[in-house]
Amino acid sequence: MGEVDSSKKVADRYLKREVLGEGTYGVVYKAIDTHTGQTVAIKKIRVGKQKEGVNVTALREIKLLKELKDPNIIELIDAFPHKGNLHLVFEFMETDLEAVIRNHNIVLSPADIKSYIQMTLKGLAFCHKKWVLHRDMKPNNLLIGPNGQLKLADFGLARVFGSPDRRFTHQVFARWYRAPELLFGTKQYGPGVDVWAAACIFAELLLRQPFLQGTSDIDQLGKIFAAFGTPTPSQWPDMVYLPDYVEYQYAPPSALRKRFAMASDDAFDLLSKMFTYDPKARISVQQALEHRYFTSAPLPTDPDKLPRPAPKKESSNSKASDFNPNEGPTVLSPPRKSRRVMPERVSFEGNAPQSDKVDDHVGDIRQAAGESTSRNEPVPMSVDFSIFGAKPPNRPTINSADRTHLKRKLELDFQQPE
Ligand code: AMP
Repeated sequence: MGEVDSSKKVADRYLKREVLGEGTYGVVYKAIDTHTGQTVAIKKIRVGKQKEGVNVTALREIKLLKELKDPNIIELIDAFPHKGNLHLVFEFMETDLEAVIRNHNIVLSPADIKSYIQMTLKGLAFCHKKWVLHRDMKPNNLLIGPNGQLKLADFGLARVFGSPDRRFTHQVFARWYRAPELLFGTKQYGPGVDVWAAACIFAELLLRQPFLQGTSDIDQLGKIFAAFGTPTPSQWPDMVYLPDYVEYQYAPPSALRKRFAMASDDAFDLLSKMFTYDPKARISVQQALEHRYFTSAPLPTDPDKLPRPAPKKESSNSKASDFNPNEGPTVLSPPRKSRRVMPERVSFEGNAPQSDKVDDHVGDIRQAAGESTSRNEPVPMSVDFSIFGAKPPNRPTINSADRTHLKRKLELDFQQPE
Protein backbone atom coordinates (compact mmCIF):
# COMPACT_ATOMS: atom_id res chain seq x y z
CA MET A 1 0.00 0.00 0.00
CA GLY A 2 2.92 2.33 0.79
CA GLU A 3 0.77 4.54 2.95
CA VAL A 4 3.63 6.35 4.62
CA ASP A 5 6.08 6.47 1.70
CA SER A 6 4.84 9.72 0.30
CA SER A 7 1.75 11.21 1.81
CA LYS A 8 1.52 13.89 -0.88
CA LYS A 9 1.51 11.37 -3.68
CA VAL A 10 -1.09 9.19 -2.01
CA ALA A 11 -3.27 12.18 -1.22
CA ASP A 12 -3.14 13.24 -4.84
CA ARG A 13 -4.38 9.86 -5.85
CA TYR A 14 -7.95 10.52 -4.75
CA LEU A 15 -10.30 12.94 -6.44
CA LYS A 16 -12.60 14.35 -3.81
CA ARG A 17 -16.29 14.69 -4.55
CA GLU A 18 -19.12 15.74 -2.28
CA VAL A 19 -19.34 15.37 1.46
CA LEU A 20 -21.25 12.24 2.39
CA GLY A 21 -21.66 13.09 6.01
CA GLU A 22 -19.89 13.83 9.21
CA GLY A 23 -19.40 11.09 11.69
CA THR A 24 -17.86 10.53 15.06
CA TYR A 25 -14.33 11.10 13.89
CA GLY A 26 -14.63 13.65 11.10
CA VAL A 27 -15.91 14.40 7.64
CA VAL A 28 -16.53 11.64 5.09
CA TYR A 29 -16.09 12.45 1.40
CA LYS A 30 -17.02 10.59 -1.69
CA ALA A 31 -13.98 10.27 -3.92
CA ILE A 32 -12.66 8.57 -7.01
CA ASP A 33 -9.53 6.50 -6.85
CA THR A 34 -7.66 7.85 -9.88
CA HIS A 35 -5.61 4.67 -10.14
CA THR A 36 -8.56 2.36 -10.45
CA GLY A 37 -11.54 4.60 -11.25
CA GLN A 38 -13.30 3.03 -8.24
CA THR A 39 -15.68 5.17 -6.16
CA VAL A 40 -14.57 5.24 -2.54
CA ALA A 41 -15.47 6.96 0.71
CA ILE A 42 -12.68 8.83 2.48
CA LYS A 43 -12.93 9.46 6.17
CA LYS A 44 -10.76 12.36 7.26
CA ILE A 45 -9.94 11.90 10.90
CA ARG A 46 -9.00 14.87 12.96
CA VAL A 47 -6.01 13.97 15.03
CA GLY A 48 -5.26 17.37 16.50
CA LYS A 49 -1.94 19.13 16.35
CA GLN A 50 0.83 16.65 15.97
CA LYS A 51 4.41 17.68 15.49
CA GLU A 52 5.28 14.64 13.49
CA GLY A 53 2.06 13.79 11.79
CA VAL A 54 0.10 10.72 12.68
CA ASN A 55 1.30 8.49 15.46
CA VAL A 56 2.95 5.30 14.30
CA THR A 57 0.96 3.23 16.80
CA ALA A 58 -2.23 4.39 15.12
CA LEU A 59 -0.94 3.43 11.71
CA ARG A 60 -0.02 0.02 13.04
CA GLU A 61 -3.53 -0.38 14.43
CA ILE A 62 -4.99 0.77 11.14
CA LYS A 63 -2.89 -1.82 9.37
CA LEU A 64 -4.49 -4.44 11.60
CA LEU A 65 -7.92 -3.18 10.61
CA LYS A 66 -6.90 -3.65 7.01
CA GLU A 67 -6.53 -7.34 7.74
CA LEU A 68 -10.17 -7.57 8.83
CA LYS A 69 -11.45 -8.84 5.53
CA ASP A 70 -14.92 -10.33 5.55
CA PRO A 71 -17.99 -10.00 3.31
CA ASN A 72 -19.86 -8.35 6.20
CA ILE A 73 -17.19 -5.85 7.19
CA ILE A 74 -16.47 -2.69 5.26
CA GLU A 75 -13.15 -2.91 3.48
CA LEU A 76 -10.48 -0.46 4.53
CA ILE A 77 -8.74 0.01 1.20
CA ASP A 78 -6.06 2.46 2.18
CA ALA A 79 -4.92 4.69 5.01
CA PHE A 80 -2.55 7.61 4.88
CA PRO A 81 -1.63 10.70 6.85
CA HIS A 82 -2.07 13.99 5.01
CA LYS A 83 -1.65 17.50 6.42
CA GLY A 84 -1.72 16.18 9.96
CA ASN A 85 -4.97 14.33 9.43
CA LEU A 86 -5.43 10.66 8.93
CA HIS A 87 -7.37 9.66 5.83
CA LEU A 88 -9.05 6.28 5.73
CA VAL A 89 -10.25 5.03 2.36
CA PHE A 90 -13.22 2.64 2.39
CA GLU A 91 -15.29 0.94 -0.26
CA PHE A 92 -18.26 3.15 -1.10
CA MET A 93 -21.64 2.06 0.22
CA GLU A 94 -25.02 3.22 -1.01
CA THR A 95 -27.10 3.35 2.13
CA ASP A 96 -27.31 2.08 5.68
CA LEU A 97 -29.64 0.14 7.94
CA GLU A 98 -30.98 3.23 9.66
CA ALA A 99 -32.24 4.52 6.29
CA VAL A 100 -33.91 1.14 5.69
CA ILE A 101 -35.57 1.02 9.11
CA ARG A 102 -36.84 4.60 8.90
CA ASN A 103 -38.18 4.48 5.35
CA HIS A 104 -41.91 3.89 5.70
CA ASN A 105 -42.16 2.86 2.06
CA ILE A 106 -40.10 -0.21 2.86
CA VAL A 107 -41.87 -3.26 4.24
CA LEU A 108 -39.55 -5.70 5.98
CA SER A 109 -40.75 -9.29 5.98
CA PRO A 110 -39.62 -11.69 8.74
CA ALA A 111 -37.18 -13.20 6.20
CA ASP A 112 -35.76 -9.75 5.41
CA ILE A 113 -35.23 -8.98 9.09
CA LYS A 114 -33.58 -12.37 9.51
CA SER A 115 -31.22 -11.61 6.66
CA TYR A 116 -30.23 -8.17 7.94
CA ILE A 117 -29.59 -9.38 11.49
CA GLN A 118 -27.75 -12.47 10.26
CA MET A 119 -25.36 -10.33 8.21
CA THR A 120 -24.86 -8.07 11.23
CA LEU A 121 -24.00 -11.04 13.44
CA LYS A 122 -21.74 -12.60 10.80
CA GLY A 123 -19.67 -9.42 10.60
CA LEU A 124 -19.49 -9.25 14.38
CA ALA A 125 -18.55 -12.91 14.69
CA PHE A 126 -15.58 -12.42 12.38
CA CYS A 127 -14.31 -9.48 14.39
CA HIS A 128 -14.80 -11.18 17.74
CA LYS A 129 -12.87 -14.12 16.37
CA LYS A 130 -10.05 -11.69 15.61
CA TRP A 131 -10.30 -10.22 19.13
CA VAL A 132 -11.68 -6.92 17.96
CA LEU A 133 -14.70 -5.29 19.53
CA HIS A 134 -16.87 -2.83 17.66
CA ARG A 135 -18.15 -0.78 20.61
CA ASP A 136 -20.27 1.52 18.50
CA MET A 137 -22.88 -0.75 16.95
CA LYS A 138 -25.93 1.16 15.74
CA PRO A 139 -28.01 1.03 12.57
CA ASN A 140 -26.20 3.87 10.81
CA ASN A 141 -22.89 2.08 11.26
CA LEU A 142 -24.29 -0.86 9.29
CA LEU A 143 -23.75 0.15 5.70
CA ILE A 144 -25.45 -1.48 2.75
CA GLY A 145 -23.77 -2.00 -0.62
CA PRO A 146 -25.25 -2.09 -4.10
CA ASN A 147 -25.86 -5.86 -3.90
CA GLY A 148 -27.68 -5.60 -0.58
CA GLN A 149 -24.69 -6.78 1.43
CA LEU A 150 -24.72 -5.33 4.91
CA LYS A 151 -21.28 -4.43 6.24
CA LEU A 152 -20.14 -3.26 9.64
CA ALA A 153 -18.45 0.12 9.44
CA ASP A 154 -16.38 2.03 11.97
CA PHE A 155 -15.24 -1.37 13.18
CA GLY A 156 -12.27 -1.07 15.44
CA LEU A 157 -12.08 2.70 15.10
CA ALA A 158 -13.22 3.05 18.69
CA ARG A 159 -10.35 0.79 19.64
CA VAL A 160 -7.90 2.93 17.74
CA PHE A 161 -9.19 6.40 18.42
CA GLY A 162 -11.36 6.10 21.49
CA SER A 163 -14.63 7.97 21.55
CA PRO A 164 -14.24 11.71 21.24
CA ASP A 165 -16.28 13.92 23.48
CA ARG A 166 -19.53 13.42 21.71
CA ARG A 167 -22.32 15.88 22.10
CA PHE A 168 -25.90 16.27 21.06
CA THR A 169 -27.41 13.65 18.84
CA HIS A 170 -24.38 11.40 18.57
CA GLN A 171 -24.36 10.75 22.24
CA VAL A 172 -28.07 10.17 22.33
CA PHE A 173 -28.01 7.72 19.45
CA ALA A 174 -25.08 5.80 20.82
CA ARG A 175 -26.63 5.56 24.27
CA TRP A 176 -29.64 3.59 23.08
CA TYR A 177 -27.37 0.69 22.15
CA ARG A 178 -25.28 0.64 25.32
CA ALA A 179 -25.16 -2.48 27.41
CA PRO A 180 -26.11 -2.15 31.10
CA GLU A 181 -22.57 -2.99 32.23
CA LEU A 182 -21.28 0.04 30.28
CA LEU A 183 -23.97 2.23 31.78
CA PHE A 184 -22.83 1.06 35.22
CA GLY A 185 -19.32 2.18 34.31
CA THR A 186 -17.54 -1.13 33.88
CA LYS A 187 -13.86 -0.77 33.02
CA GLN A 188 -13.57 -4.30 31.78
CA TYR A 189 -15.90 -5.43 29.12
CA GLY A 190 -15.95 -7.91 26.33
CA PRO A 191 -17.83 -8.94 23.20
CA GLY A 192 -21.09 -8.93 25.17
CA VAL A 193 -21.35 -5.16 24.67
CA ASP A 194 -21.63 -5.73 20.92
CA VAL A 195 -24.19 -8.50 21.47
CA TRP A 196 -26.39 -6.17 23.53
CA ALA A 197 -26.15 -3.49 20.84
CA ALA A 198 -26.97 -6.07 18.15
CA ALA A 199 -30.02 -7.06 20.22
CA CYS A 200 -31.12 -3.40 20.24
CA ILE A 201 -30.72 -3.36 16.45
CA PHE A 202 -32.67 -6.63 16.13
CA ALA A 203 -35.45 -5.12 18.25
CA GLU A 204 -35.38 -1.98 16.13
CA LEU A 205 -35.77 -4.01 12.94
CA LEU A 206 -38.83 -5.67 14.45
CA LEU A 207 -40.38 -2.52 15.92
CA ARG A 208 -39.25 -0.14 13.18
CA GLN A 209 -38.21 2.31 15.82
CA PRO A 210 -35.43 2.40 18.43
CA PHE A 211 -36.38 0.14 21.31
CA LEU A 212 -34.82 1.68 24.42
CA GLN A 213 -34.63 5.43 23.96
CA GLY A 214 -33.04 6.78 27.13
CA THR A 215 -32.56 10.53 27.46
CA SER A 216 -29.59 10.20 29.83
CA ASP A 217 -27.47 7.32 31.04
CA ILE A 218 -29.61 7.04 34.14
CA ASP A 219 -32.77 7.12 32.08
CA GLN A 220 -31.28 4.52 29.73
CA LEU A 221 -30.85 2.11 32.64
CA GLY A 222 -34.35 3.01 33.77
CA LYS A 223 -35.72 2.14 30.33
CA ILE A 224 -33.81 -1.15 30.30
CA PHE A 225 -35.07 -2.08 33.76
CA ALA A 226 -38.63 -1.07 32.90
CA ALA A 227 -38.50 -3.41 29.90
CA PHE A 228 -36.75 -6.42 31.40
CA GLY A 229 -37.31 -5.88 35.11
CA THR A 230 -34.64 -4.65 37.54
CA PRO A 231 -31.91 -7.31 37.60
CA THR A 232 -31.65 -9.37 40.75
CA PRO A 233 -28.28 -10.43 42.21
CA SER A 234 -28.99 -14.00 41.11
CA GLN A 235 -29.51 -12.84 37.53
CA TRP A 236 -26.36 -10.73 37.53
CA PRO A 237 -24.09 -11.40 40.52
CA ASP A 238 -21.28 -8.99 39.50
CA MET A 239 -23.60 -6.03 39.04
CA VAL A 240 -23.20 -4.64 42.55
CA TYR A 241 -19.41 -4.41 42.14
CA LEU A 242 -19.53 -2.19 39.05
CA PRO A 243 -17.96 1.28 39.54
CA ASP A 244 -21.13 3.31 38.99
CA TYR A 245 -23.56 0.81 40.43
CA VAL A 246 -26.46 2.34 42.29
CA GLU A 247 -29.42 0.45 43.56
CA TYR A 248 -32.57 1.02 41.56
CA GLN A 249 -36.02 0.56 42.92
CA TYR A 250 -37.35 -2.79 41.86
CA ALA A 251 -39.40 -2.71 38.68
CA PRO A 252 -41.12 -5.84 37.42
CA PRO A 253 -40.54 -7.00 33.85
CA SER A 254 -42.92 -5.63 31.24
CA ALA A 255 -45.05 -7.56 28.77
CA LEU A 256 -42.23 -7.82 26.30
CA ARG A 257 -43.64 -10.76 24.38
CA LYS A 258 -46.69 -8.64 23.64
CA ARG A 259 -44.58 -5.72 22.55
CA PHE A 260 -42.78 -8.07 20.15
CA ALA A 261 -45.97 -9.75 19.03
CA MET A 262 -44.69 -9.56 15.44
CA ALA A 263 -41.70 -11.76 16.28
CA SER A 264 -41.79 -15.53 15.91
CA ASP A 265 -41.10 -17.63 19.01
CA ASP A 266 -37.61 -18.36 17.67
CA ALA A 267 -36.93 -14.68 17.01
CA PHE A 268 -38.11 -13.75 20.50
CA ASP A 269 -36.09 -16.51 22.11
CA LEU A 270 -32.90 -15.32 20.40
CA LEU A 271 -33.67 -11.69 21.23
CA SER A 272 -34.15 -12.59 24.91
CA LYS A 273 -30.84 -14.45 25.01
CA MET A 274 -29.04 -11.49 23.47
CA PHE A 275 -30.64 -9.20 26.07
CA THR A 276 -29.32 -11.24 29.00
CA TYR A 277 -28.23 -8.91 31.82
CA ASP A 278 -25.12 -10.73 32.99
CA PRO A 279 -22.53 -10.29 30.22
CA LYS A 280 -20.97 -13.60 31.28
CA ALA A 281 -24.24 -15.41 30.66
CA ARG A 282 -25.19 -13.44 27.55
CA ILE A 283 -25.24 -15.49 24.37
CA SER A 284 -22.13 -15.05 22.20
CA VAL A 285 -22.38 -13.91 18.60
CA GLN A 286 -21.33 -17.34 17.37
CA GLN A 287 -23.98 -19.03 19.49
CA ALA A 288 -26.54 -16.54 18.23
CA LEU A 289 -25.69 -17.46 14.65
CA GLU A 290 -26.20 -21.12 15.52
CA HIS A 291 -29.63 -20.42 17.03
CA ARG A 292 -32.49 -22.29 15.36
CA TYR A 293 -34.02 -18.94 14.35
CA PHE A 294 -31.62 -18.87 11.41
CA THR A 295 -32.46 -22.36 10.16
CA SER A 296 -36.21 -22.34 10.76
CA ALA A 297 -38.62 -21.05 8.13
CA PRO A 298 -38.64 -18.52 6.65
CA LEU A 299 -35.01 -18.66 5.59
CA PRO A 300 -33.13 -15.34 5.37
CA THR A 301 -33.76 -13.37 2.18
CA ASP A 302 -30.90 -13.29 -0.34
CA PRO A 303 -29.11 -9.97 0.14
CA ASP A 304 -29.66 -8.84 -3.45
CA LYS A 305 -33.42 -9.28 -3.00
CA LEU A 306 -33.61 -7.23 0.18
CA PRO A 307 -35.76 -4.11 0.13
CA ARG A 308 -33.74 -0.95 0.52
CA PRO A 309 -33.99 2.73 -0.40
CA ALA A 310 -33.06 3.80 -3.91
CA PRO A 311 -29.41 4.84 -3.98
CA LYS A 312 -28.81 8.54 -3.57
CA LYS A 313 -28.87 10.42 -6.87
CA GLU A 314 -25.46 11.75 -7.69
CA SER A 315 -25.03 15.36 -8.69
CA SER A 316 -24.03 15.83 -12.31
CA ASN A 317 -20.46 16.72 -11.41
CA SER A 318 -19.87 13.73 -9.20
CA LYS A 319 -20.25 10.70 -11.41
CA ALA A 320 -17.44 8.24 -11.58
CA SER A 321 -17.97 8.15 -15.34
CA ASP A 322 -17.02 11.84 -15.51
CA PHE A 323 -13.59 10.93 -14.40
CA ASN A 324 -10.92 10.75 -17.04
CA PRO A 325 -7.75 9.12 -15.68
CA ASN A 326 -5.66 10.86 -18.33
CA GLU A 327 -6.53 14.27 -16.98
CA GLY A 328 -4.89 13.55 -13.64
CA PRO A 329 -6.43 14.16 -10.27
CA THR A 330 -7.53 17.52 -8.96
CA VAL A 331 -7.65 17.74 -5.23
CA LEU A 332 -10.57 19.97 -4.47
CA SER A 333 -10.60 22.24 -1.49
CA PRO A 334 -12.55 20.61 1.30
CA PRO A 335 -16.19 21.56 1.35
CA ARG A 336 -17.72 23.11 4.39
CA LYS A 337 -18.46 20.71 7.18
CA SER A 338 -21.98 19.52 7.13
CA ARG A 339 -24.05 17.15 9.09
CA ARG A 340 -25.06 13.82 7.66
CA VAL A 341 -26.46 14.01 4.18
CA MET A 342 -29.44 11.70 4.16
CA PRO A 343 -31.96 12.73 1.53
CA GLU A 344 -33.71 9.39 1.71
CA ARG A 345 -34.61 9.56 5.36
CA VAL A 346 -38.16 10.04 6.35
CA SER A 347 -40.03 10.15 9.60
CA PHE A 348 -40.78 7.04 11.62
CA GLU A 349 -43.79 5.20 10.39
CA GLY A 350 -42.69 1.63 10.45
CA ASN A 351 -44.56 -1.42 9.37
CA ALA A 352 -45.10 -2.48 12.93
CA PRO A 353 -47.68 0.00 14.13
CA GLN A 354 -49.03 -2.41 16.70
CA SER A 355 -45.90 -2.00 18.78
CA ASP A 356 -47.11 1.32 20.12
CA LYS A 357 -50.52 0.07 21.00
CA VAL A 358 -49.82 -2.85 23.26
CA ASP A 359 -49.62 -2.38 26.96
CA ASP A 360 -46.06 -3.16 27.88
CA HIS A 361 -46.45 -2.64 31.59
CA VAL A 362 -48.55 -5.64 32.45
CA GLY A 363 -47.84 -9.32 32.46
CA ASP A 364 -44.64 -11.25 32.37
CA ILE A 365 -41.57 -11.35 30.24
CA ARG A 366 -38.84 -13.83 30.07
CA GLN A 367 -35.56 -12.18 30.99
CA ALA A 368 -33.20 -14.70 29.65
CA ALA A 369 -30.44 -14.35 32.21
CA GLY A 370 -29.19 -17.76 33.13
CA GLU A 371 -30.79 -19.34 30.11
CA SER A 372 -27.84 -19.26 27.83
CA THR A 373 -25.55 -22.18 28.04
CA SER A 374 -21.97 -21.11 27.87
CA ARG A 375 -19.69 -18.22 28.49
CA ASN A 376 -18.38 -15.81 25.94
CA GLU A 377 -14.80 -16.17 24.87
CA PRO A 378 -12.41 -13.84 26.65
CA VAL A 379 -11.26 -10.82 24.73
CA PRO A 380 -8.40 -8.49 25.61
CA MET A 381 -9.77 -5.61 27.60
CA SER A 382 -6.95 -3.15 27.65
CA VAL A 383 -6.79 -0.61 24.89
CA ASP A 384 -4.01 1.88 24.26
CA PHE A 385 -5.63 5.28 23.96
CA SER A 386 -2.39 7.16 24.29
CA ILE A 387 -2.10 7.46 20.54
CA PHE A 388 -2.22 11.03 19.33
CA GLY A 389 -1.82 12.08 22.94
CA ALA A 390 -5.57 11.98 23.06
CA LYS A 391 -7.30 11.84 26.40
CA PRO A 392 -8.90 8.53 27.29
CA PRO A 393 -12.21 7.87 25.63
CA ASN A 394 -15.36 9.17 27.12
CA ARG A 395 -16.50 5.83 28.41
CA PRO A 396 -20.21 5.62 28.80
CA THR A 397 -20.41 6.27 32.47
CA ILE A 398 -22.94 8.11 34.54
CA ASN A 399 -21.95 11.77 34.55
CA SER A 400 -21.98 13.92 37.64
CA ALA A 401 -25.25 15.66 36.73
CA ASP A 402 -26.88 12.26 36.27
CA ARG A 403 -25.36 11.04 39.48
CA THR A 404 -26.61 13.99 41.51
CA HIS A 405 -30.02 13.61 39.97
CA LEU A 406 -30.04 9.93 40.75
CA LYS A 407 -28.86 10.42 44.33
CA ARG A 408 -31.60 12.97 44.85
CA LYS A 409 -34.12 10.63 43.34
CA LEU A 410 -32.96 7.73 45.49
CA GLU A 411 -32.96 9.84 48.63
CA LEU A 412 -36.53 10.77 47.93
CA ASP A 413 -37.40 7.19 47.33
CA PHE A 414 -35.66 6.07 50.50
CA GLN A 415 -37.31 8.75 52.58
CA GLN A 416 -40.63 7.18 52.01
CA PRO A 417 -41.65 4.87 54.83
CA GLU A 418 -41.34 1.19 54.04
P1 AMP B 1 -19.31 7.72 10.06
O1 AMP B 1 -18.13 8.51 10.51
O2 AMP B 1 -18.92 6.32 9.73
O3 AMP B 1 -20.48 7.83 10.99
O4 AMP B 1 -19.78 8.36 8.66
C1 AMP B 1 -20.51 9.55 8.53
C2 AMP B 1 -21.42 9.43 7.33
O5 AMP B 1 -20.64 9.26 6.15
C3 AMP B 1 -22.32 8.23 7.39
O6 AMP B 1 -23.52 8.52 8.00
C4 AMP B 1 -22.54 7.90 5.93
O7 AMP B 1 -23.59 8.68 5.42
C5 AMP B 1 -21.25 8.33 5.28
N1 AMP B 1 -20.35 7.19 5.06
C6 AMP B 1 -19.45 6.67 5.93
N2 AMP B 1 -18.78 5.65 5.40
C7 AMP B 1 -19.27 5.51 4.14
C8 AMP B 1 -19.00 4.59 3.06
N3 AMP B 1 -18.07 3.63 3.17
N4 AMP B 1 -19.70 4.74 1.94
C9 AMP B 1 -20.66 5.70 1.81
N5 AMP B 1 -20.96 6.57 2.79
C10 AMP B 1 -20.28 6.49 3.93
